[in-house]
Amino acid sequence: MTGIRLDSVSKVYDSRHLAVDKVSLEVAAGEFMVLLGPSGCGKTTLLRMIAGLEELTDGELWLGRTRASGLAPKDRGIALVFQSGALYPNRTARDNIKFPLQIAKQDPVEVNEKVSGLARILKIGAALDRFPRTLSGGERQRVAIGRAIVREPQIFLMDEPLSNLDATMRTELRQEIGAMARDLNVTTVYVTHDQVEALTLADRIAIMRDGRIEDVGTPAQVYSDPATAFVAGFLGTPRINLMSATVRVTARHRVSLDLGGQSIALPTIDRRSIILSKHDGIRVIVGGRSDAFTVSADGGVDGLAGRLRALEFHGDRWIAYVESGIEMVNPDLVGVDAAARRRSQRTTHDGRHTKHAVPDSEPAAPVSALRRLTKAFRQSKDAAAAPPAEPTHRRADLVLEVDPAAGLTAGAKVTFAVDTARLHIFDEEGHRVDRVTH
Ligand code: ATP
Repeated sequence: MTGIRLDSVSKVYDSRHLAVDKVSLEVAAGEFMVLLGPSGCGKTTLLRMIAGLEELTDGELWLGRTRASGLAPKDRGIALVFQSGALYPNRTARDNIKFPLQIAKQDPVEVNEKVSGLARILKIGAALDRFPRTLSGGERQRVAIGRAIVREPQIFLMDEPLSNLDATMRTELRQEIGAMARDLNVTTVYVTHDQVEALTLADRIAIMRDGRIEDVGTPAQVYSDPATAFVAGFLGTPRINLMSATVRVTARHRVSLDLGGQSIALPTIDRRSIILSKHDGIRVIVGGRSDAFTVSADGGVDGLAGRLRALEFHGDRWIAYVESGIEMVNPDLVGVDAAARRRSQRTTHDGRHTKHAVPDSEPAAPVSALRRLTKAFRQSKDAAAAPPAEPTHRRADLVLEVDPAAGLTAGAKVTFAVDTARLHIFDEEGHRVDRVTH
């Protein structure tokens, strides 16, 4: 088994689009790593660099103990599966899967055993003797995965393999991919923008934004202890509530979060109080997921107050939209300045969004001048003065989970208790400021 190491890897397209920006990441041998992030954040580019389909502009890539630069894609021990794996139309599913082994002149008995084993894991036994045109999208993708993995690659790379399938097939095949990766114990890097796929499949998730990794950890770590407000906002449904607040410290060293007209006091035993007391008078962002609040009819609890604007039934729970007058922060825009937002509107020659287009006046830089380009890019961010398309802060509803037994109706006044232990506090740039180091 082979692990992967990326050391400060960057990719600049056409000498001007910084798609991947000094990414360092280690994927352990046998690990299932998911690259998660919004469209255009650089996931596919990173994957293609690992596969050898894109050259690195800067940095180093190691596959096991081998430095990958100069290694042709076919010599990297890598198998790739894309959104829709192309199959040979005139070969049956079985022959499609067998093909790479036949080319390698492997023993036919062993080949048959391998195909049967994979067919069992991928649940395509009944489809093996059919031609691709008679298979469903999900079956075709299973065959494509089988064909990629049958060569027993050292590393398995998948780029949104489920995105063309309907919801039921996605769930089924997701489970099969998870089972296959566990059974075969192959080092896997899986690209998706779907948080459910990431949370359910990954050993660890690397969350990307604008060409950088913002957070890496197990699904439980990145969900429960996100490094940035963007990560907190990207994971979880409904989205986390991000409230704009100011830290206040009382004469008795009690820390409270002033939400403008309402406030949340941290218990004195909360170990984060010591750290936060250093931020007296500083604006912060307070993150709380919907289940960190307990709503009840007015007067029921001592907490924040608001008016229940709407209630939504989500099958397993009710979600309440509460007008509270608290200024809310858009997680997508935290830490993104006006220039980056303006650039995000631009499109590349092929019509895809680019988050990193350097202004037109910037002279094209040679590939080796990455540092100069990066500096220019950062300076262009600082110099930008374009008004934001959408405000970062705005009055918006708090989104909370409610107990149907509480008998609440739209329009009612409500109060809601806050589980302060489950709040995350970020600075205005979106970085955590409340982490207690042990
Ligand atoms: P998606 O989920 O939409 O595929 P992604 O996170 O995989 O997005 P990439 O495809 O890696 O993102 O693209 C990262 C950035 O690089 C984007 O701004 C994209 O427009 C740009 N880009 C990608 N390929 C090229 C290319 N061949 N030439 C120029 N720019 C490119």
